[in-house]
Amino acid sequence: MSKLILLLFLGFLAYIVFKGYQRAASRRAGDSSRPKAPERMVACASCGVNLPESEALEGNGGRFCCEEHRRLGAHD
Ligand SMILES: [Zn+2]
Repeated sequence: MSKLILLLFLGFLAYIVFKGYQRAASRRAGDSSRPKAPERMVACASCGVNLPESEALEGNGGRFCCEEHRRLGAHD
């Protein structure tokens, strides 16, 4: 009978460890899996270079690759 209790206890322990490991693993995955999805690329309205949308500068006439091009504005 005590063997059965020990077995249950070990099973419970394994369950706790497994759950803890799962949580740690998912937390680690959450950290590393930031926007790994291909980011939308936008073209600089001044020079036409492609850059990630998050790095583009919003300006008058579109998005720009740098502060200087934003100041220059879109060429037409
Ligand atoms: Zn540019």
